[in-house]
Amino acid sequence: ELMEVKNIVPVMKNVLSLLEFEAKKQKININFEYREALMKVVIDENRMKQVLLNFIKNAVEAMPNGGTINVSAFLEDQQVHLSIADTGVGIPEEKLKKIGEPFFTTKETGNGLGLMISFKIIDSHNGKVYVESELNKGTTFHILLPHHSD
Ligand code: ADP
Ligand code: MG
Repeated sequence: ELMEVKNIVPVMKNVLSLLEFEAKKQKININFEYREALMKVVIDENRMKQVLLNFIKNAVEAMPNGGTINVSAFLEDQQVHLSIADTGVGIPEEKLKKIGEPFFTTKETGNGLGLMISFKIIDSHNGKVYVESELNKGTTFHILLPHHSD
């Protein structure tokens, strides 16, 4: 584990740039909105990138006919609030409490480990995660990370 003070904005831009091409091919637009250009967090950059990739990959997989992914990063009190919102199939109420359980998947080729690993990584960063979802409208994952101020 390599914990360093990093600006989350270029980290997120980097992840999004990796996915742009594949997303376009699948008729998915990815937007990134942020107010402050500098939001410091203490992270293991590679692990946090893995988390963002997992959420965005799930968002892509939730939109087989294309759609939009809105990613945002905002400073809120002492926290950096990240969100990944899709316009996909949504998660039915009875399945919401199961997400993040090891091997819980609704996909034929899924392994149901992505969210469990992501939640563990967020926890190891003293972060919090929660999800909002509406069936056939979309899903938003929220990640709260402690803001590093010096
Ligand atoms: P996998 O992607 O291999 O199925 P994950 O742990 O990444 O495993 O996700 C577990 C399950 O949570 C998925 O199978 C899916 O049912 C649900 N899920 C996760 N993200 C989304 C999303 N953005 N929209 C709809 N369902 C989702
Ligand atoms: Mg997944």
